[in-house]
Amino acid sequence: MHDVIIIGAGPAGLSAALWCDELGLDTLVVEQAAEVGGQLLRVHNPVENYLGARAANGRELRDVFAAQVEDKEFDLWTEAEIESVDLKAKRVRLRSGEELQSIALVIATGVRRRRLGVPGESEFAGRGVLESGRLERESVAGEDVLVVGGGDAAAENALLLADTCATVTLVHRGPRLGARPEFAERLRGEHRVTVFTETTLERILGGERVESAEILRAGALKPMRMAVRGVLVRVGVEPNTELFRDQLHTDERGYVVVTGEQETSAEMVFAVGDVSNPLAPTISGACGAGATAAKVIASCLSSRGR
Ligand SMILES: Cc1cc2nc3c(=O)[nH]c(=O)nc-3n(C[C@H](O)[C@H](O)[C@H](O)COP(=O)(O)OP(=O)(O)OC[C@H]3O[C@@H](n4cnc5c(N)ncnc54)[C@H](O)[C@@H]3O)c2cc1C
Repeated sequence: MHDVIIIGAGPAGLSAALWCDELGLDTLVVEQAAEVGGQLLRVHNPVENYLGARAANGRELRDVFAAQVEDKEFDLWTEAEIESVDLKAKRVRLRSGEELQSIALVIATGVRRRRLGVPGESEFAGRGVLESGRLERESVAGEDVLVVGGGDAAAENALLLADTCATVTLVHRGPRLGARPEFAERLRGEHRVTVFTETTLERILGGERVESAEILRAGALKPMRMAVRGVLVRVGVEPNTELFRDQLHTDERGYVVVTGEQETSAEMVFAVGDVSNPLAPTISGACGAGATAAKVIASCLSSRGR
């Protein structure tokens, strides 16, 4: 029996663990990935807005976080796949068969990139369906590619791919891009990029790898097929809450609803970081929420005489 089990070792989970440790709580962190850091591992731009440390990219900041928790007392299990969680009983069952139990649970599972779910998207992953414009632009150098999405991430990736690709078509289902003005301006000046608004990606086709994509423009009767060798989807994120969604109060998009003390609707279950912060997800916010949850848990446990 642990005092606290924290699910997820991104900034929110690590901060909660650091504080739980400092407050003398017996703490276990369960992380599904091989390394801690969460989304920081996917941040390739400099991080200049986290007070206390500047970093050339997310991994560098993650290394600072990892070094700070290295010698702490709490247990950290990586590559731990959770099969089920019983929030009422505070019981976590792993696919490996272990059953873990605690007095308090902290959900720090963050968010993942949203997928479109169109035919071909999973099938051609790694075979023309790209994960990152920055890291994979050489693999589609000189080719025609398609980017889906209208926000900053889509615009940024379209611009990165335009450095090496013959053409980039950016399709967005809304009437106008939501990307920041700086990106929108740069897209307008980039002759290799064509933007189609009110357009959706319907299907990705190919053989060994991606060869074409079907897009549907508003008002068109049928999809138009375009020859492309790469497709990159950036249509926002969704919370990792499948394990708990039916056991606590979430919003319509599946984000956990919390109080100012990070409490969820389930007793002694807390949620911290992006998983409960759809409006303003940041590293600072995640770390702050982790600290808050730990302090509230410590005070609850001490009032129970623990
Ligand atoms: C490209 C990019 C750039 C960004 N730039 C900035 C920036 O400049 N400044 C800033 O403040 N923020 C930035 N962010 C946002 C910032 O990274 C997040 O706000 C922050 O990482 C949230 O931390 P978190 O711990 O809540 O979630 P995450 O970082 O998402 O971590 C969640 C962790 O939970 C784990 N997990 C999920 N499900 C399970 C499960 N079932 N079992 C066990 N473990 C699980 C995941 O593997 C992951 O390690 C950026 C994000 C991206 C993607």
